[in-house]
Amino acid sequence: MSFACDTDLARPLPSPNHGERRDGRKIDCLILHYTGMATAEAALSRLSDPNADVSCHYVVLEDGGIIQMVNEDRRAWHAGAGVWKGESDLNSASIGIEIVNYGHDGNLPAYPQQQINSVIALCRDILTRHAIAPQRVLAHSDIAPARKRDPGEHFPWAQLHQAGIGHYVAPSPISGGRFLARGEQGQPVAALQAMLALYGYGIEVNGSYDLATEQVIAAFQRHFRQERVDGVADASTITTLRDLIAALPVSQSD
Ligand SMILES: [Zn+2]
Repeated sequence: MSFACDTDLARPLPSPNHGERRDGRKIDCLILHYTGMATAEAALSRLSDPNADVSCHYVVLEDGGIIQMVNEDRRAWHAGAGVWKGESDLNSASIGIEIVNYGHDGNLPAYPQQQINSVIALCRDILTRHAIAPQRVLAHSDIAPARKRDPGEHFPWAQLHQAGIGHYVAPSPISGGRFLARGEQGQPVAALQAMLALYGYGIEVNGSYDLATEQVIAAFQRHFRQERVDGVADASTITTLRDLIAALPVSQSD
C-alpha cells in the first residue's frame, strides 16, 4: 500500500497505528508534543509499534527533518485521555506533531533553532489546509495537565506566535503581591477556575485550590508564563490569563 504525504515538507514513514475520525469529526485543533525519549530512533520505533497503541501525524527531528507517519484524514493516537473546551476525544479533532526532545526526563534540552524553524513551517503548512483557530494550537500539557508536561516550559510559544501560529500574549511580569495556592478555598479560587475553564482547560469550578487546580495552573504556566512553573496562581499568572481571555477573537464559536 502506498503512502503519500499531505505536504511536500515531509517524507513518509507510515505507522499502522491509526483509525477513523469518530462521527466524521473535522480537524480544528493542533496539538504539539515532545517525544520524551533519549533518541529519535527510539521514538520513531515506538510510534510505529503495533503493540504500543500510540502514533502521531508528524515527527520533527532535531536537524529539522520532518516525517509523516499518519495521514491527516486519519485519527492518530497522540492525545490520549484529555479535555479541552469540554471535548474529550481530542484525537478525532486534531493533528498531532511530535517534536524530538528528551524533555523533562532529560532535563529539558533546548530545542535547536533549525528544529523550531521546521515546526513553524509545518504548522503554517497545516494551518493553510485546515480551519484551526489560533487558540486551538495547544500543548499536550494543556489538554492533560495531570498526566503530561510536554512540549515543556522551554518550548518557544512566543516565537511561534510571532510566526503567526497560536494564541499568545506577552506574559505579565512576575512581582510580589497577593496570590492563590494549594489549600485555599473560596470565591477567588472559583473565579480563577472559571477563567481557566472559559479559556478551555478541563477543570471543575469548585472553589477549592486542589491538586487538579495546581496542575492546571502549572500547565497554563508551561505554555503562557514560562519564567516560573510552580502551580501557584500569582498576580502575573492571573493577569496573563485575563489578558489572554481578553485577546480571544470576538466571534469565538468554539
Ligand atoms: Zn505528548
